Amino acid sequence: MGLSKKSLRTCNKGHHYYKSSDCPICPICEQDRNFNNGFLSTLSAPARRALENNGITTLQQLTAYSEKEILQFHGLGPASLPKLRTVLENNGLSFKR
Ligand SMILES: [Zn+2]
Repeated sequence: MGLSKKSLRTCNKGHHYYKSSDCPICPICEQDRNFNNGFLSTLSAPARRALENNGITTLQQLTAYSEKEILQFHGLGPASLPKLRTVLENNGLSFKR
């Protein structure tokens, strides 16, 4: 029920999503924003740069790496690891095992 009222939309980042209301907010962008809010901002600048230099700007991208691999990133020290682990756990995610 109600399915026929939903229409496929595409946000300006190219995400496809279904919405039944007139709300223009893309749920995928919204989720990315929520992830990034508590994530990169809690890190030290060198650690944040280390992740960004490796193309990691979302928690989901972070889950593609193990703790060992993350520690190989230049600028990311062991002190940042518990923070990252906690943020991942808070979002029901974890490092690659
Ligand atoms: Zn989007």
